[in-house]
Amino acid sequence: MKLYNTLTKKVEEFKSIKPNYVGFYTCGPTVYHYAHIGNLRCYIGHDILQKTLEYLGYEVKRVMNITDVGHLTSDADTGDDKMVKSAIKEHKSVMDIAAFYTDAFFKDYKALNCKMPNIVEPATNLIDFYIEIIKDLLNKDIAYISNGNVYFDISKCKNYYELTNQKIDELKIGVRNDVEQDLNKRNPGDFVLWFTKSKFQDQELKWDSPFGIGYPGWHMECTGISIKHLGEYLDIHGGGVDNIFPHHTNEIAQSEAYLGHKWCNYWFHNEHLNDESGKMSKSKGDILTVSVLKDKGYNPLSFRFMCLNSHYRKQLVFSYDILKQQENAYNKLLNKINSIEDNGNLDKNLFDEYNNKFIEYISNDLNTANSISLIYDLLKDDEVNNHTKLELIKSFDKVLSLDLIKKQEENLNDKDDYIMEKIKERNEAKKNKNYNLADKIRDDLKKDGIILIDTREGTTYKKEGI
Ligand code: AMP
Ligand code: ZN
Repeated sequence: MKLYNTLTKKVEEFKSIKPNYVGFYTCGPTVYHYAHIGNLRCYIGHDILQKTLEYLGYEVKRVMNITDVGHLTSDADTGDDKMVKSAIKEHKSVMDIAAFYTDAFFKDYKALNCKMPNIVEPATNLIDFYIEIIKDLLNKDIAYISNGNVYFDISKCKNYYELTNQKIDELKIGVRNDVEQDLNKRNPGDFVLWFTKSKFQDQELKWDSPFGIGYPGWHMECTGISIKHLGEYLDIHGGGVDNIFPHHTNEIAQSEAYLGHKWCNYWFHNEHLNDESGKMSKSKGDILTVSVLKDKGYNPLSFRFMCLNSHYRKQLVFSYDILKQQENAYNKLLNKINSIEDNGNLDKNLFDEYNNKFIEYISNDLNTANSISLIYDLLKDDEVNNHTKLELIKSFDKVLSLDLIKKQEENLNDKDDYIMEKIKERNEAKKNKNYNLADKIRDDLKKDGIILIDTREGTTYKKEGI
């Protein structure tokens, strides 16, 4: 399998540390608000990677954190704790906020057919282990205490900037004019391992430690949770591209300083989903969630379909027009598949031929768009009998998870809704004297075995052969 590795900036042949087993860590959400569909695009990308590895025969152990402490409003260790800010705003405790938005997150996550990780660990669960790591870094003189906070000294780290492509000057945080500068740091790029004094005013969650009562910096949780559950050597670690710097850069620095050796072999990053005004953000006005899509009548899986039709390393712009087009294409595909009558015997040779093509596409740095095109090719291929087609689609759907083969009753209901929708569109087209479009809708339905019948009372339909 070929996978782009942010560490080497190349598409590489994936090699797991242990045979047939992959340790995979995903940076989870910060649960101070609902996750927007941009966040969820990132988790769809991770889901596809996990399922592709499983399709190829690997056992995957996947771990995800839940950030419920330590993530400040600026990634540069400045501003307020996002969780505390939200708790104050909503007049709730931090733990209530965390529980509420964690539940909401997984509801949306499941609605998009994403597989639950084997372990989901809130950051607040492993404080003792973070303290152990910080003590070790202080003993090694890689960390230092300044004005009560514990900092990581990046000048002690040979390859601090290895993960990112940008120039060092562009990345130095805490030194731009618009960002509050922390004068306790030795180097402007140093980051906080443990906060005590500087961020304490409204902090609800705090723990005793040898460095004073306080709480961990944001990056520490992913180092701690990953090492605890996946061991000292990790195959894959992933997040969105905004996590590359500073979050993952700092995770590598502190993990490798603690472990004394290289930690993770492959860094997997998903590009962003933007709205037409730019980057989506949880703190930017109305946030676009899966529930909003549902309320507007969209199937969440149409959004998954839309994401899979683009490459995970390309930015994607969201608009309702694009989603509508994708939903129409998705429904058409479902109808096509579900109108196939299951007959014939499995043709092993053709099954293997198509399945190998699917594997070739999906294991080429997760080319989901080509994998979906392959389904269209398969549907058109007269040499493949119906049963073989359905078995292939069932198999591809283990990775794509688009519910391509549904239960019979569900299909019928969905299909009827779809036809009624098409009849409405055709009536509208006729009203606007767009007879070409009206004829096209009728002809497209006919190809799917649906015959429209125009009567004085309106249009009805029958299914071919019925
Ligand atoms: P957060 O809840 O802010 O910690 O983000 C959760 C995940 O979503 C992280 O891996 C981010 O990198 C990712 N992410 C944030 N914004 C976007 C976006 N607009 N598109 C795709 N992924 C994003
Ligand atoms: Zn993380």
